Amino acid sequence: MLEKINFDVLVVGGGPAGSSAARIAAENGCTVALIEKEKEIAETVRTSGVTWISDIKQFGIPDECYNPIKKFSFCSPKNSVTISDEVAKAAVLDVRKTYRFLAERALNAGAKIFVSTNVSNILKNSRGKCVGVIAKSYEKEIQFNGKVIIDASGFASVVAKELGYVKQWKKFGVGAEFEVKTERLEYDNWWLMVGQEYSPAGYAWIFPTSENTARIGVGIGKPDSDVDPTIRLNELIDKKIGPIKDLGKIEKIEFHYGLIPNEGLSRKTVYDNVILVGDSAGQANPLVLEGIRYAIRFGEVAGRVVANAIKNKDTSETSLMPYEKEWRKSIESKINSAVKVQNRWVGLTDEEWDKELDIINELTADEFLDFIRADFGVSKMIKLATHHPKMIVRQLFNMVKGT
Ligand SMILES: Cc1cc2nc3c(=O)[nH]c(=O)nc-3n(C[C@H](O)[C@H](O)[C@H](O)COP(=O)(O)OP(=O)(O)OC[C@H]3O[C@@H](n4cnc5c(N)ncnc54)[C@H](O)[C@@H]3O)c2cc1C
Repeated sequence: MLEKINFDVLVVGGGPAGSSAARIAAENGCTVALIEKEKEIAETVRTSGVTWISDIKQFGIPDECYNPIKKFSFCSPKNSVTISDEVAKAAVLDVRKTYRFLAERALNAGAKIFVSTNVSNILKNSRGKCVGVIAKSYEKEIQFNGKVIIDASGFASVVAKELGYVKQWKKFGVGAEFEVKTERLEYDNWWLMVGQEYSPAGYAWIFPTSENTARIGVGIGKPDSDVDPTIRLNELIDKKIGPIKDLGKIEKIEFHYGLIPNEGLSRKTVYDNVILVGDSAGQANPLVLEGIRYAIRFGEVAGRVVANAIKNKDTSETSLMPYEKEWRKSIESKINSAVKVQNRWVGLTDEEWDKELDIINELTADEFLDFIRADFGVSKMIKLATHHPKMIVRQLFNMVKGT
């Protein structure tokens, strides 16, 4: 039997984007359904969880949700550098704890969470506008009617795809990762490992999550390379390549696997009654393919804009457009600069990577962090491109600027 339920806002996907959008919409007076297909929030981990402590603090995520990082090590086949900071500015999240914290905040704000509820279809009105979704939940079908539908379903973009607004991403990253227990670990030091042996189009990583646990992973860009990241990851761990050998005995605890879009900001993200947010919108920093902070931040923006639109009884594309304007203004030029660096990195040979690390070694900790975070503000970039004491760094930033 088809059950029918009405809400102001339907949020499809209980990841960081969905939970954040749901919370803000609920706090602003909307009735909200947060619909997640898995049995619990963050049942499956699909991310390495690296993010930045300034963002974590801004989002109000508690300290017990992350492991702080203050050393950033990079290795290529014949080179390695470590940049040390005085205080930790990066972090590796406990992904389950963080995502569940975000969802609980949405719940406390009044959103209703439906788990084990898989959205498989959309509902349109006579004018062809989306007015709801159909989902399967514990053997029954539910018709969720909503004034605005927020597609926060991640890479799958189920709502936007069903509506024919978007097609499957063609350029994306695939990552495979083991959460492991290690015999030895420098737990405030992360490793990024580059070059053909680690990943022919991407990088491998060691991200510590506690004093004796870490995530070791391999990310590969598609369609640039057809290497399978899971096979490559097992090879790196079995052969104990590079800094992996320093970890001593490794015990695998859990396997993670995921896909992340890598097409820059190519998608339009508002339509009549519909908003795309997070990975569904392609909001990721292409340099290291990190999107959690954008998912949370722009989820919040989406929740606010949607609540306003509903208050004003106008959920048209025009009324929702402030969302797209706000997020583009905040990151578009930075992401475009980061895409240029990514294009340069994807083409590097092993020997060129060895030299690239010499450039990275000339950056201060703050410069490195701005770089890896794709925090390429125009004034910062001009300063680095014209005044940095090292010519190789000036050249790098001139390239990022596009001159
Ligand atoms: C291997 C890998 C490593 C990464 N590492 C990092 C990192 O270190 N730092 C970082 O910031 N980012 C990282 N990312 C990216 C980051 O994970 C994403 O940018 C972020 O999770 C996006 O959040 P989201 O809420 O948009 O989507 P998701 O986190 O993917 O959440 C989408 C949710 O929608 C649900 N859903 C999907 N389809 C349906 C449906 N039909 N019905 C109901 N629910 C549905 C899913 O179950 C999921 O819970 C990584 C990604 C990958 C693949």
